[in-house]
Amino acid sequence: MKSEVLSIALPLLLLASMPAAAEWHHREAAIMGTRIAVELWHDDPGEAAAATEAVLEEMHRVDGLMSHYRPESQLSRINAHAAEGPVAVDPELAGLIDEAAGFSERTGGAFDITYASVGYLYDFRERRHPTDAQIEAGLAAVDWRHVIVDLGASTVRFTQPGVRIDLGGIAKGYAVDRAVALLAARGVRHASVTAGGDSRILGDRFGRPWVVAIRHPDDPQRFIARIPLEDAAISTSGDYERYFDEDGERYHHIINPSTGRSAGGLRSVTIIGPNATETDAISTSVFVLGPERGLALIEELPDLDAVLVRSDGKVLYSSGLTPP
Ligand code: ADP
Ligand code: MG
Repeated sequence: MKSEVLSIALPLLLLASMPAAAEWHHREAAIMGTRIAVELWHDDPGEAAAATEAVLEEMHRVDGLMSHYRPESQLSRINAHAAEGPVAVDPELAGLIDEAAGFSERTGGAFDITYASVGYLYDFRERRHPTDAQIEAGLAAVDWRHVIVDLGASTVRFTQPGVRIDLGGIAKGYAVDRAVALLAARGVRHASVTAGGDSRILGDRFGRPWVVAIRHPDDPQRFIARIPLEDAAISTSGDYERYFDEDGERYHHIINPSTGRSAGGLRSVTIIGPNATETDAISTSVFVLGPERGLALIEELPDLDAVLVRSDGKVLYSSGLTPP
């Protein structure tokens, strides 16, 4: 009996102590309220595990800094006190809020982290939305120019009471970029990092591109397109992520800052570009802008491409993706 066990255990033991075999390492976790997936190639399994662990730690760190769900986060402190005066924050957080203002400027205010001044009144899990009067009252506080960032002093203040900010439209992309930089610094040359709808690809898949599929808005098992990618980022914003339907109307998490209501005209927007901070912010922005103005914006930005699913189901591609 004893020898039988040994004869099974021995090959296993040998396998485990074999020289490290290069292979793909895959891990998933739930962080930042979403699914995180890390896939990387490394010839040392120990290094691969350590690199993956470092990525997940980094995601936790960014979440701790920027989550509006955590009352102790620096972001929550800004929302609680920035109308009274400048709130000191990490240079990293001040920098990202400043970068968000840059996206507001580039998108004519479609991207606006102060959408949250009204946005906080929605609760998609509880199927709650603000009344017309509440939207009317909250809209006065929605304007990215109400947020004053002092990069030198590393402070953030609001010009008036009632302002709230939320980084949900950019933080996941930012975290993905951080993760990929961290992997590259550790010598990883082939990897894919995903946080919810935001992914970034490092290198290729050994002579082949990575392939990222864009799902159908109504069916996660069906795909509307497959995009081959190398050294690129891809973000999708959809009206099916966090939503509820009431009286034939869909209330979802992408809010038009000029109306305080869920943006219409599109079901999903996918943006492909060099980094995930940008593709994340721009996917949210194009969703707000709608099909015509959204595609026009992408055509002006040479390093970005887009795949849009219009409300009527028609799929639109930017010219960089359209076959000649
Ligand atoms: P996901 O969280 O599904 O990846 P998106 O990248 O599409 O979503 O961003 C949606 C999130 O962005 C919302 O949950 C909210 O936190 C935030 N947001 C919603 N509307 C705006 C807006 N107009 N400008 C900036 N951020 C927004
Ligand atoms: Mg986004």
